[in-house]
Amino acid sequence: DILTFDGFLTLWAKDRPDGPALSQDDRAFTYAGLEEHTAKIASMLMAMGLKKGDRIAWIGKNSDLYFSLFYGAARVGIVMVPIGWRLAPAEWAYIAKDTGARVLFAGQGFDAGVQALAKDVPGVEHVIAEDDARRMIDATPRAAFEPAGADDAALQLYTSGTTGNPKGAVLSNRNLFALRKHSADSEHAYTKWEDDEVVLIAMPCAHIGGTGLGIMALASGLPGLVQAEFSPDAVFDAIEKGGATRLFIVPAALQMMVNHPRCRSVDYSRLKYILYGAAPIPLELLRQSMDVFNAQFIQVYGMTETTGTICMLPPEDHDPNGNKRMRSAGKPLPGVDLRIVDGAGNDMPVGAVGEVWTRSSNNMIGYWNLPDATKGTVADGGWIKTGDAGYLDEDGYLYIHDRVKDMIITGGENVYPAEVESAIYGHPDVLEVAVIGVPDAKWGEAVKAVCVPKPGTQIDVESVMNWARERIAGFKVPRSVDVIEALPRNASGKILRKDLRAPYWAGYD
Ligand code: ATP
Ligand code: MG
Repeated sequence: DILTFDGFLTLWAKDRPDGPALSQDDRAFTYAGLEEHTAKIASMLMAMGLKKGDRIAWIGKNSDLYFSLFYGAARVGIVMVPIGWRLAPAEWAYIAKDTGARVLFAGQGFDAGVQALAKDVPGVEHVIAEDDARRMIDATPRAAFEPAGADDAALQLYTSGTTGNPKGAVLSNRNLFALRKHSADSEHAYTKWEDDEVVLIAMPCAHIGGTGLGIMALASGLPGLVQAEFSPDAVFDAIEKGGATRLFIVPAALQMMVNHPRCRSVDYSRLKYILYGAAPIPLELLRQSMDVFNAQFIQVYGMTETTGTICMLPPEDHDPNGNKRMRSAGKPLPGVDLRIVDGAGNDMPVGAVGEVWTRSSNNMIGYWNLPDATKGTVADGGWIKTGDAGYLDEDGYLYIHDRVKDMIITGGENVYPAEVESAIYGHPDVLEVAVIGVPDAKWGEAVKAVCVPKPGTQIDVESVMNWARERIAGFKVPRSVDVIEALPRNASGKILRKDLRAPYWAGYD
């Protein structure tokens, strides 16, 4: 059983030396080439005095160099920390200090910013720009090294910071390849990879949806096609000209694609699978996407702490004609245990909403430097408390309602924002909507919708409430509607409900 970066790179270099492994723009590695390149990187890092357990960081857009640095470091147990380039410099500093990285790699265009950052971060010994790194690697002779084992840390990935400060989830080799192992034994569409597949890495590498997809390509011996950053045009090009067969995309990016004028004229004949997830998807957007793209849809559900996907909704459950499963996040992957528990940690019956807990070899080692947060998230017996509210149906399908923290309690009834948002989403004048609870003297909390109008339209508050009233129970209907120009989002495109709530709750906590 192979469960390490060193193992997979060595295997494919032997089994399919000329097979395409990793490419971006005009650069391309075969598996033999990638094995050699990553061995040189491991040798270079060791020659710089780094050892197992040390951290290196990458600040930059997606790059084949990021992936080869990560894989090379992981071969000898040096841990890669990708830091989101869209974050503010103060957030870079927060993460860089937290990790104690000894070397900072700066992607194309980020050299000056990272040099400036390094002045504020104690312990940084080198800042290396992308072009310099490539030259240094080429000039390094391959040395012998002791490969890291399955339980050694390989990647430290920060959570998105949707509910609080980002936390560094430390993931081992075993964690990162668990998904592959689980699904290799099964007939899951998630990993029914065909030999001619090309995996498009279009989401940011600082999140599991970007980096994790690269790892899945590596584990399957397939080519990963790296894109510096997401844009609808770049993805359309990768599908038409790059031969991409599989991609992962978040709902906010999917929305941009279906609204793009090119979306109906692209040749999708090579495209096989669109994986989507990381945030709730409005049903309307999913239906639209299925109508536009000639591909099979797979929903994935998971979190940084579970190395990404733990549940998936396969293509056969994507039936736009009234299949209730379209609202589900799917079933747990083989090897993944799920529980739905109440506030006291007791199991809830089928159909009842509680917090989703999960256990599998996907579960992280722990949060970096945060023993209390780790204790708060990892319950006895190794269960991760996801912080998500949801229920399981009688067939074992998971339905995610929302974050436990986002649940609104109004007049003793629980209201989950996503359900209300889904109901309002189809309103002809509404482009985007977020639902929050605001303080209310009578009901404790009252449901409020915050709407962004479609360009050139005006939102009539009464008509939004009426629209909702026709679709959901009375107690879920917003008591008030605010209209704003744009919803606050974090760098992963997730709506920051905590920011929308803040002004209403000032003085309450
Ligand atoms: P933080 O933990 O810092 O507040 P975050 O939870 O957004 O940020 P991530 O680990 O990137 O950080 O995201 C995991 C979360 O994303 C899950 O807990 C869940 O709330 C949401 N999510 C992931 N997949 C889905 C999905 N398919 N449907 C609905 N929500 C999803
Ligand atoms: Mg989280």
